[in-house]
Amino acid sequence: MSLIVQKFGGSSVANKERVMNVARRIVDTYKNSNSVVVVVSAQGDTTDELIEKAKEITNSPSKREMDMLLSTGEQISISLLAMAIHELGYPAISLTGWQAGMNTDSSYSSARIGNIDVSRINKELDHKNIVIVAGFQGINRFDDITTLGRGGSDTTAVALAAALRADLCEIYTDVDGVYTADPRVVKTATKMDTVSYDEMLELASMGANVLHNRSVEMAKKYNVNLCVRSSLNNNPGTIVREVKDVEKMLVKGVAHDYDVARIALCDIEDKPGVAFRIFSLLSQKGINVDIILQSIGRENKKDISFTVTASNLENAVKILEDNKESIGFNEIKTRDTVAKVSIVGAGMVNNPGVAAKMFEALYEAGVNIHMISTSEIKVSVLISERNVEKAVNAIHDKFNLGN
Ligand code: ADP
Ligand code: ASP
Ligand code: MG
Repeated sequence: MSLIVQKFGGSSVANKERVMNVARRIVDTYKNSNSVVVVVSAQGDTTDELIEKAKEITNSPSKREMDMLLSTGEQISISLLAMAIHELGYPAISLTGWQAGMNTDSSYSSARIGNIDVSRINKELDHKNIVIVAGFQGINRFDDITTLGRGGSDTTAVALAAALRADLCEIYTDVDGVYTADPRVVKTATKMDTVSYDEMLELASMGANVLHNRSVEMAKKYNVNLCVRSSLNNNPGTIVREVKDVEKMLVKGVAHDYDVARIALCDIEDKPGVAFRIFSLLSQKGINVDIILQSIGRENKKDISFTVTASNLENAVKILEDNKESIGFNEIKTRDTVAKVSIVGAGMVNNPGVAAKMFEALYEAGVNIHMISTSEIKVSVLISERNVEKAVNAIHDKFNLGN
């Protein structure tokens, strides 16, 4: 008998037919004498709709209240799914994040999971229940509800799989697995049979939101058997695992991310400590900086530009403006109509030609590059938002990733 964690995303439970479909799949697994723990997301666009509702009231909602609001989406789907399983004649019980022992830190809207108290889940499994846990939510030390960040139900599932030492964690979604690029953008994208934790982590972090990046981080840390597959068919899906000696693909996939904004600080004094001042101010406020570019000095002045997530733009600008004197810049320029396109592959190390080939594809497609950043396993460029589809397709073709 094995223990399986199955996670179903929002589109997989978007309406009553889909909920019944998911219920049947879960029961099939259960009938094969498995213990089943299910994690489910809010139905369809519920989370977006809840965000809109908050916006009708205020432009600056309290983060605590936002988490209270957003967590309700998942509470609807867990109860409906439990009812659907009861309809099929099988035992099931739904649990919210706190009932499931999902303890997190206190960073509302992007909480990190700490220890998970699995006693309640284990008790329900002992009673032969199918246990259905609300994704994306937990509880902090003040007994307040927290959420894990958009797409966070994947992380709930992997964290539970790790804590319960499950034999398998299956992420069911609306595509057949992890593709060489977002299949909605690149029609010729191909499904990967396997992908390494490191490559998947990089793809997810660079915008391939088929998996929440923290779920991959956690799967790697606890060696969780992870599989991404479709809730609408029985195709085998993509296995995410440690890949050691297997042939390393030069470029495994292309990812894109619209959630990016660029900030440029112009005419900063060219002296030691300036970059330290800027980036420590931002990091103290929990703002992550991604690509950084510094111009060469001229007449004792230089420019520093960098990217943040679009949602952090306003906040970052405010922090910088508030510290204009101490940083010593002349002007801030911002742009949020930019996007990041990245290629990822563990075989890139020691292959200087890879970046050049990516730039060649962009040149041929007539796409201008604003910023570049490279690491052992990826190359990212910042481009105009309007060029994303063209760029991703051109790069995907250049590396022959299509079918
Ligand atoms: P869920 O609601 O099941 O969590 P998501 O919308 O979060 O689903 O993730 C699935 C979507 O991720 C797909 O519909 C697809 O458009 C997108 N996606 C982006 N990059 C990739 C990729 N490389 N492979 C597969 N899907 C991708
Ligand atoms: N419902 C949440 C979201 O839309 C969590 C998730 O889907 O994973 O982001
Ligand atoms: Mg998702």
